[in-house]
Amino acid sequence: MSEHPTSVTSSITWIAGAISLIVLASLPLGFWALSYQHQIGTISAESQFNANMVADLVDQNPANWHEQKQRIARLLREDDRTQADYPELRRILGPGGELIASSSATALPPPVLARREPVMDGGKIIAYFEVARSIRPLLAETGLVALLGMALAGALFFTLKIFPLRALNRALADLHQSEQLFSKAFHASPDPVMICRADDGRIISVNTSFTRLTGYALPEVVNREHGELGLWADQEKTEWARQQLRLDQPVNNLEMTLVTRSGEQRDMLVSSEMTEINSVSCVLTVARDVTAQKQAEQRMAYLANYDQLTGLPNRALFRDRLEGAMRRAQRAERLVGLLYLDLDRFKRVNDSLGHQAGDQLLVQVAERLLGCVRRTDTIGHSDARHGSSGSTVARLGGDEFTVVLGDIKHVDEISSVALRIITALSAAFDLTGHQVFVGASIGITVYPFDDIDLDNMIRNADAAMYQAKALGRNNFQFYTDDLNANAEERLWLETELRQALERNQFELVYQPKLDLLSNRISGVEALLRWRSPEKGLVSPVEFIPLLEDTGLIVPIGAWVLQTACAQAAAWERDGMHLTMAVNLSPRQFHDNGLTDMIQAALTNSGLSAKQLELEVTESLLMEDSTRSQTTLASIKQMGIHISVDDFGTGYSSLAYLKRFPLDTLKIDRTFVKEVGIDPDDTAIVRAVIALARSLRLTVVAEGVETHEQLEFLRETRCEQAQGYLISRPLAGPAFAAWMAQYEETSLPMIVAGAGAQG
Ligand code: C2E
Ligand code: MG
Ligand code: MG
Repeated sequence: MSEHPTSVTSSITWIAGAISLIVLASLPLGFWALSYQHQIGTISAESQFNANMVADLVDQNPANWHEQKQRIARLLREDDRTQADYPELRRILGPGGELIASSSATALPPPVLARREPVMDGGKIIAYFEVARSIRPLLAETGLVALLGMALAGALFFTLKIFPLRALNRALADLHQSEQLFSKAFHASPDPVMICRADDGRIISVNTSFTRLTGYALPEVVNREHGELGLWADQEKTEWARQQLRLDQPVNNLEMTLVTRSGEQRDMLVSSEMTEINSVSCVLTVARDVTAQKQAEQRMAYLANYDQLTGLPNRALFRDRLEGAMRRAQRAERLVGLLYLDLDRFKRVNDSLGHQAGDQLLVQVAERLLGCVRRTDTIGHSDARHGSSGSTVARLGGDEFTVVLGDIKHVDEISSVALRIITALSAAFDLTGHQVFVGASIGITVYPFDDIDLDNMIRNADAAMYQAKALGRNNFQFYTDDLNANAEERLWLETELRQALERNQFELVYQPKLDLLSNRISGVEALLRWRSPEKGLVSPVEFIPLLEDTGLIVPIGAWVLQTACAQAAAWERDGMHLTMAVNLSPRQFHDNGLTDMIQAALTNSGLSAKQLELEVTESLLMEDSTRSQTTLASIKQMGIHISVDDFGTGYSSLAYLKRFPLDTLKIDRTFVKEVGIDPDDTAIVRAVIALARSLRLTVVAEGVETHEQLEFLRETRCEQAQGYLISRPLAGPAFAAWMAQYEETSLPMIVAGAGAQG
């Protein structure tokens, strides 16, 4: 477009020049020609006329016509009008050209126009009449006309040139402006734009966004077809769009994949329409890059369906998969196994080694679960995570996982997967240097045997899982109808326990410890009881795990400690000098306020720290966490004694005995029970007593029920004994009475082995 202005300008100049030149030339020339013709016409007519007059004269006087001087002179007189403008000379000449008469003797100024007409007489030329005119004035007039013509041509030239040019320039400026506007909009568009020829699909132009996004430079794409460049990944859609355009239908927001120069794929929303540019039929394509938006959508969909930590399906997707598996099973007359899985010691790992370790554990558990499930894939699809096979492993949250086993023919297949999972999860987990053992409790329900409703299936599997936990963890249980009753019972118990503290339904009973050297009661252990309005006195074995699971152990444990300390202080004031042992659950160590709580119990009761003993479990020490280590150290710092309860039942890595500031080992009653009967138990008790002595720890034997046991312990120099043989746990006042009686009478009975009440 840019070459147009100069060519148009010069054309206009040429046309204006030509018109002006024509005017310039034709005006004087026309004038000259017309005037010349006129002059010739006039003098011809005059000479003709006068020749006739002379002929008349000859007719009248054939012999001496030229003697008629007066008449000839009249003939030769010129017209006044012509004479004024043009000098004229009239002459009569003889047949031989000799002058007969002349109007003037002086010659005319050149140039001269002359016409000579013969005078005839009887068919014979007898003379000539000649009229001659000087056309010098005509030349002068023509010059004037030429000057006028020049002025006119000049004016015409400028008029013809300036006005069209000005109009043209204005039009061009407008065009240029709109062109610039278009180009600006074209390149400034954040969306890639491509203009192709409609007939052969070759690219005419692309904008900056296009080159930026695709990585192609403009010269690389111009005159090429997008197929050549492999610009669009979707052949079918490209073809469809082409057809649509052929039918003159625009394409709107078609989702397509653009392939950049480097091979990267981008998601685009493409709109195309036919348009005409410089009277060439073109396809204008505007594409919008929605890759980020697409990714965000996918991410959202992923977040909605997958657990971020393990990458396993989450609860929502699990439900979908279970539903699908149930539907397929119904059609194919197959079974679906639903495994509900809870890790046995996850909370402990999480609390002691930190959340990062907990996360690591969950990831490893997920991997092992997938491994267990994949091996059952008879169909051969391998990715259970993505549910292509009949099985799905999902994480419902926390340490709860589910496994859906579809396309099952025999229940045995389900048991074998469950067994494989139990085995896989029993092996040690390596959490950046820490070896951790966690088991899993698995509840199983089978579709359609147990239920055909999805929510009921989940509830059944959950109930079966609780049953597995109740049956000692690290095992699997199939759902049975009475399990739901258990689950309901558990729910009831939880609700009741939540209210028990404020309803004053908790009580403490006290069981004495006998010093085998002095035969004196050295102290008591406080044991918790729940007096339920419905069930009477409930044993802690039944509700402590639930208190731990729900965290209720923290406020209730605080109540126990305060009550026990207050009781010991009261007895102290009554002259009964006893140590008070209180059980602490590991869960209480995960609470930050434990040491403050202990301190408050001592301060409030006025009990001296020396008289307090805290019984902790082996599993707490096994956790090997710095947190419990520092808490125990500060408890020890306060002057409180620490005992290891139920010693021997944990995984005995004895290393921890040196790491912790311990005072006492309490040999678990299961060993004491068979002492003197079972050689293994006897050996264990002996070894524990020897070990305690070498570590300078006090040994207490729990669950002493017979004199034989007591005697054996005495012989092996165990320091203290606790058990029904000495006394069952008693309520506060009952214990005080028992003590009084013991001091007076019962002492010899136990010591002498004369029998005691059971
Ligand atoms: P533990 O600390 O080992 O307490 C000893 C348990 O053995 C008590 O059961 C006691 O009644 C029982 N026992 C004592 N002598 C004999 C005997 O000669 N033969 C037999 N067969 N059993 C005997 P209890 O009171 O049912 O408590 C069970 C467990 O509950 C306790 O074991 C302790 O671990 C836990 N527990 C009790 N009270 C509390 C508490 O206040 N807080 C915490 N965290 N745990 C508690
Ligand atoms: Mg205890
Ligand atoms: Mg014990």
